[in-house]
Amino acid sequence: MSSYEVMGISPQVSDLARKCEKELIDIFQKIDEFSELNSAKVLKAFQDNEVTEVCFNGTSGYGYNDVGRDTIERIFAHIFKAEDALVRNQLVSGSHALSTTLFALLRPGDTLLSISGLPYDTLHEVIGIKDNASSLKSFGVNYEQIDLVNDDFAYDQIEAFLKNHEVKVIEIQRSKGYSTRKSLSIEKLAKVIKLIKKINENIIVMIDNCYCEFVREIEPIEVGADIVVGSLIKNLGGGIAPNGAYIVGRKDLISLCGERLTLPGEGKDVGPTLGINKSIMQGLFLAPSVVASSLKTAVLASKMLEELGYQVEPKYDEEKVDIVLNIYFRNPNDLIKYCQGIQTGSPVDSNFLPIPGDMPGYDDKIIMASGSFTQGSSIELSCDGPLREPFIAYQQGGLTYAYGKLGVLKAIDRLLNN
Ligand SMILES: *Cc1c(COP(=O)(O)O)cnc(C)c1O
Repeated sequence: MSSYEVMGISPQVSDLARKCEKELIDIFQKIDEFSELNSAKVLKAFQDNEVTEVCFNGTSGYGYNDVGRDTIERIFAHIFKAEDALVRNQLVSGSHALSTTLFALLRPGDTLLSISGLPYDTLHEVIGIKDNASSLKSFGVNYEQIDLVNDDFAYDQIEAFLKNHEVKVIEIQRSKGYSTRKSLSIEKLAKVIKLIKKINENIIVMIDNCYCEFVREIEPIEVGADIVVGSLIKNLGGGIAPNGAYIVGRKDLISLCGERLTLPGEGKDVGPTLGINKSIMQGLFLAPSVVASSLKTAVLASKMLEELGYQVEPKYDEEKVDIVLNIYFRNPNDLIKYCQGIQTGSPVDSNFLPIPGDMPGYDDKIIMASGSFTQGSSIELSCDGPLREPFIAYQQGGLTYAYGKLGVLKAIDRLLNN
């Protein structure tokens, strides 16, 4: 019996999967090459920072002298070529890490500038784009925005703005979030950071790196970014980290983030790890291979859906920036069916069917399929989308390629045959 038969996938979808997979061999090989480069980077970081079993012990209470936590932070700094890192379970999510960083770096009267258009939905209340009594705006921090032009930075507009305005922090979101633009490659990042630093080297360049880690062989600090932020229930948690987020970058800036996260005077020196150090390390160790599995899952899904006449972004043979795949369904029913199919292909809660609902921090109703071991984990195969035109599903994750593939086939089967 084939794996497809075990999972009850129709012959039509099984045949299409076999045909598409044959055409993806070269692309998968390229993904494996990046995965191996990143694995080498991780292994070297573990060795150079002398990981031993002692590091797996955590602390409780205040969390003083947590050898494992401090080692993890040195490893993250090493991998990102950063001066320092803050990798904490007290950071509840990627959004919390982004919020912590913004509040750490900005003071009343300062200006924050986004040059990648409207930031991720959960940052709207943080910044004050949407009213909130605790926003940066409520503390007198100004916000300005320059939109992308044809999915690239508006270099001339950025240059003109920076020559006429005092800007403290520039925020760049690499991954598209819930938008239809393309994600921003490391090459584009290099070009715009060079321009910014030429105009004023004191501007702090902050990167929202969610979903982009280990997709390529270099990370944003290597092209001049000052501080980089991401989630541990995405790429770098490898599906093992139970929660948390990371901030890496310049030592003085990381110190400010530590003091914002805990308290002035104690900063990075406190924060109990409560037994999760080993999971964080194992997750990071697996992350290059898990990211590769996610990429292969996305590539197969995009190839099959394209063959079936759906518009996808990025196309299967485009250079990848992140692990996210946009599928344009153009009607709510197909979006809902596909997400429900992903749910039925999951290891957890496969007997539930998701329906659209309200989510804190988001404006539209959202349908979310995620039968994951860790709540909200999107390095595990997951698919979600706001119920608004043009009804796009955002699919990401896949802990192994086999599980990712089977989930996608269940989704395509439900789309076609339900
Ligand atoms: C997921 C994501 C975030 C927020 O991360 P959470 O951990 O879900 O809070 C921020 N920015 C982008 C681009 C993301 O994809």
